[in-house]
Amino acid sequence: MAVIAGNWKMHKGPSETREFFDRLDAGAVGKDHELIIFPPVASLSAAVSARRAASTQVGLGVQNIHWEDGGAFTGETSAPIAADAGAHYVLVGHSERRHVFGESDRETHDKVAAARRHGLVPVLCVGETLEERREERVDEVILRQLEAALPALGDAKERFLLAYEPVWAIGTGETATPADASAAHETLHVRLADAFGATVAAGIPILYGGSVKPANAGELLSAPHVGGVLVGGASLDPESFVAIARAGR
Ligand code: PEP
Repeated sequence: MAVIAGNWKMHKGPSETREFFDRLDAGAVGKDHELIIFPPVASLSAAVSARRAASTQVGLGVQNIHWEDGGAFTGETSAPIAADAGAHYVLVGHSERRHVFGESDRETHDKVAAARRHGLVPVLCVGETLEERREERVDEVILRQLEAALPALGDAKERFLLAYEPVWAIGTGETATPADASAAHETLHVRLADAFGATVAAGIPILYGGSVKPANAGELLSAPHVGGVLVGGASLDPESFVAIARAGR
């Protein structure tokens, strides 16, 4: 079972969200894959209602949370508010959060901890920049980003997902080769096995993200250690999102 997740970023208000679910043929995906959508937080409640109306099994999440449970943090969303609004998952440490908004490893740790406290499933995103790849520092960077969050995961018996998203491949049309994705996923998997044991690590899906499209999803989803995909641009269109899932058969 692969996880096919769509990160809508700052796209689709409530009306477009309803239209997406009206057109989403989740039945065409069958039970082989788990679908998750991360709409903008202002569209989450529309997504909850539209999903119910369409009787689909699509999971819903938010793209970010604050690490505090509440307080004077204008413009932020806390884990309990996100959970109450219908989120089940949360992206933590997406490269745009890290590189555009300056989110630190410490903050990603605290956000994973907040997600855990309120029953949200964290999807921790890690990935190297082009410069770091050229300097052959991929493993160092992604392991540092993972390491920072590990203390917040306890024994990792509750659900947790990891996403390897090379920064240079996000929204650029550049994609890691299946071999490069596999190598990074294996590095992450070995560290998870070391931290939590082989059985728990085997149950932690590691998604690949970075310009995934229907045309390249099949080979990426069949690469070793790739447990799913996190899709930005190509998840905005329901047909292309379903085509990506179907490519993974
Ligand atoms: C993302 O936003 O996580 C992402 C991978 O974007 P894209 O598929 O557009 O590269």
